[in-house]
Amino acid sequence: FNINMSEFSLDEELGRGNYGTVRKVWHKPTKVAMAMKEIRLELDDSKLAGIIMELDILHRACAPEIVDFYGAFFIETCVYYCMEYMDAGSLDSLVGYGMPEDVLARITGAMVRGLRFLKDELQIIHRDVKPTNVLISKKGVVKLCDFGVSGQLERSLAKTNIGCQSYMAPERIKGESQNNLGTYTVASDVWSLGLSIVELAMGKYPYPPETYANVFAQLTAIVHGPPPELPDEYSEDAMDFTRQCLRKEPEMRYTYSQLLDHPFLVSDRERDVDMVSWVSGAMEHRAAVRAAAANGGAAAPASAA
Ligand code: ATP
Ligand code: MG
Repeated sequence: FNINMSEFSLDEELGRGNYGTVRKVWHKPTKVAMAMKEIRLELDDSKLAGIIMELDILHRACAPEIVDFYGAFFIETCVYYCMEYMDAGSLDSLVGYGMPEDVLARITGAMVRGLRFLKDELQIIHRDVKPTNVLISKKGVVKLCDFGVSGQLERSLAKTNIGCQSYMAPERIKGESQNNLGTYTVASDVWSLGLSIVELAMGKYPYPPETYANVFAQLTAIVHGPPPELPDEYSEDAMDFTRQCLRKEPEMRYTYSQLLDHPFLVSDRERDVDMVSWVSGAMEHRAAVRAAAANGGAAAPASAA
């Protein structure tokens, strides 16, 4: 079906990325809460039709680990993209509370199944795997969003700034410096997956900008330094899993089916995990951190550990 702006009432802003703003909205005809992403583009009208056609593939991206797509429309130079609203937000905002191994394994399993679905069913490489693009609900359901379906959209993005947190695989960083964009394969997503898992476990981005003199030094560490590892408190299975994702040589990294057969994810399938309690604790922690920041950093909030 077709949707347009007049059908929505606007609610709070959910967050801002490099390319635009995501807002919670209410779709009046269907009475469904949605997340609406506004993306500013730099392009001429002839390309709009192409983007709409390419976005159409999203209607086929129906899987339990992929955020539902409801439709997109244009107003002037912006594309408005409507998707399922995930009521606990993105995982980057829930780190710092503590991440027990069973919760980490549950999240990882969903990410791997989502990525495998995109690749096997839609022949899509995600290209932007990172904690802000992994969403979770209060019920503990984990879904991926923001995968690269449209080459034309990608080329038309009005980039405001390049983030200082790179999830790019070493071969991609090397390829960009040689202006060689052809090096992106599914294995590059596996690196970004591994880095995201380590970030969730550590509670912070594994190559913290403050440790490096500049972005060049940071990227050099990703390309030439040892890959990051999980903190000591995680099991040998968990450690090995991230090691198989964070191999420097892309050919050495595990495939999605190898990852799904890894003991770290096999154990996950054999146990119950109370995701609902973890999400509610992490959301309370997030609210306390935000309140403390608003108060000038007064009270230290409690954590899961
Ligand atoms: P980048 O621009 O580099 O992709 P990003 O992923 O943080 O960074 P956006 O994709 O614009 O930027 O999203 C901004 C924020 O909005 C996210 O960090 C997330 O917290 C929130 N968000 C995005 N989509 C949804 C959604 N479907 N439901 C709930 N919150 C969302
Ligand atoms: Mg995003």
